[in-house]
Amino acid sequence: MTKRPSPKDNYTDFGFQKIPLSEKTQKVAEVFRSVANKYDLMNDLMSLGIHRLWKRYALALANVQPGECVLDLAGGTGDLAIKLSQKVGETGFVILADINDAMLAKGRDRVIDAGCVANIRFTQANAETLPFQDNTFDLITISFGLRNVTRKENALQSMYRVLKPGGKLLIVEFSKPPSPVLSSIYDAYSFNLLPRLGKLVAGDEESYRYLAESIRKHPDQETLKNMMHKAGFDNCDYQNLTGGIVAIHRGYKY
Ligand code: SAM
Repeated sequence: MTKRPSPKDNYTDFGFQKIPLSEKTQKVAEVFRSVANKYDLMNDLMSLGIHRLWKRYALALANVQPGECVLDLAGGTGDLAIKLSQKVGETGFVILADINDAMLAKGRDRVIDAGCVANIRFTQANAETLPFQDNTFDLITISFGLRNVTRKENALQSMYRVLKPGGKLLIVEFSKPPSPVLSSIYDAYSFNLLPRLGKLVAGDEESYRYLAESIRKHPDQETLKNMMHKAGFDNCDYQNLTGGIVAIHRGYKY
């Protein structure tokens, strides 16, 4: 007998709210359309610039080689894509893909300003249904993007499909600090200071409340590692950065 779907199956988290699954992608789109103009400034302010170190470390782990084909998924305003494009050089290319037109527009401006248009292409795409052929990329990066995706399992499977055999997935994402002391300081910061900063700088308190809540709802380090295994990735591991506030997960397609 086939199991009838329960109403619970059709709901998902949007921060701490439960909303119909069909509405999440749209609501996330509204968040990023609202913050796109102030996104880079807010990143620097919220993290005191530390996000640049997290990304620098991710780049070192990526170990990108000249000539490689890279997908920077949920690439937003393009800071990682620019760095990746400098590594792959003239013989390689980077696709900056994002579901959101406003974030992509900011990314395109930034790529032009950095003089990297020659080997970066732009695609508006949902991570769950990537519009690329099987076995296309040597490396996929998704930095602070997976948390926002409605069906994360579908996105991981889609990434696995478009990765070449031998290719690598690198997920940079907020995670769970194992230390209770750090957790409580981080909670106080996230739920009190962060929304206020969002209101002051970006004129948008709600989006930054969503940011704090979505981080708490995101799978922890071990859960995400298991999800990667389930999607087909081998040799999955992770490293905690800044006490586990951020984790970088790696997985391979063999
Ligand atoms: N990667 C950039 C960075 O590290 O600064 C941007 C990260 S920003 C927090 C999250 C990005 O994920 C947004 O640009 C958003 O539009 C994008 N995004 C959300 N859901 C997505 C989806 N289902 N598919 C592709 N991109 C998505």
